[in-house]
Amino acid sequence: MSETQKGGLIVVAGAGGFIGGALVKYFADRGWTRIRAVDKKPLPEWYQRVPNVECLCLDLSDQANCRRACEGASEVYNLAADMGGMGFIERFRIECLRSVLINTHMIEAACRAGAQRYFFSSSACVYNTELQEDPDVRALKESDAYPAMAERGYGWEKLFSEMFCQEYWHERGMKTAIARFHNVYGPFGTWDGGREKAPAAICRKVIQAKDRGGDSIEIWGDGKQTRSFMYIDDCTRGVDLIMHSDDLIATPINLGSGELVSINELVSIAEEIGGVKLRREYRLDAPQGVAGRNSDNAMIEQILGWQPATPLSEGLAKTYAWIEGQYRDRKAGKRTVC
Ligand code: NAD
Repeated sequence: MSETQKGGLIVVAGAGGFIGGALVKYFADRGWTRIRAVDKKPLPEWYQRVPNVECLCLDLSDQANCRRACEGASEVYNLAADMGGMGFIERFRIECLRSVLINTHMIEAACRAGAQRYFFSSSACVYNTELQEDPDVRALKESDAYPAMAERGYGWEKLFSEMFCQEYWHERGMKTAIARFHNVYGPFGTWDGGREKAPAAICRKVIQAKDRGGDSIEIWGDGKQTRSFMYIDDCTRGVDLIMHSDDLIATPINLGSGELVSINELVSIAEEIGGVKLRREYRLDAPQGVAGRNSDNAMIEQILGWQPATPLSEGLAKTYAWIEGQYRDRKAGKRTVC
């Protein structure tokens, strides 16, 4: 599958976070013996720690740290970014834009280190927002990013960084891979504190209502906005497939589920899992992002013969159970992910 043998060194940036942590585990489980995990967070705050993996605490917006991180690397996966759900990316656009430093220095360091492949985690937020004004949205295909009118801050940073990846292939010959993630969720993700995304936030609110004997749930917006949500196991598998496909070098591709649901439907699934029915209180002034967004998976299906397939009800049940455990642990005064 790859010219990098399993003994080659792979570097995962952002490994203290949700997707980076899951990716380290994914490769370790598949027999990769040399993995370097890097994040700026102190080690005790990492969401997952995998045995026998070299862990470095480095701020990757700094050029020298990126060189240290990439030393000897065969493959580099950049999942480090200052990010969160709508509540975060609508409020902290400067922080989101500043992640451009991470990719700028990481891709140069990877290239200098002679890495064979470089992966960049882009986002569905690169897509033209004018195509997402209706909840009954047409699924977004890869060409819909241009003419560009990306999500302010976060989306523009991703679009610009995608271009870096394309030019490092065209001018310097380093194989780059670019996946546009659509809302990823699952265990070991942020579930509280302001950076969490809708699936985790809604599970937490249902769990909290049950625990406190509440009968209502707060929903951001009117609940009619639509999205698709990809389970973490599909995401890690997709990253592996995209990174190692020679048909996708320097070619942005959707990595997301095609199962479109409204936020109201997402709440109903979480209620069903929790075995409750709550009165819905809509906060129309809260951040809610675009009206509708879905992933067109024709290209990934055609090139890889694969697409994310975990049903939302199945993935959310696993996520709910994990957040419930975290909630219980926090109440008992134990350390939790967030
Ligand atoms: P996350 O916040 O859980 O993980 C990101 C990690 O990057 C964090 O642990 C953070 O400490 C680290 N980081 C931030 N700045 C850093 C720096 N200067 N140096 C070193 N580490 C730094 O987020 P995630 O959900 O795991 O997302 C991973 C990647 O996928 C990001 O690039 C994100 O933009 C992208 N993405 C995620 C989603 C999603 O739904 N989760 C959707 C689209 C794109």
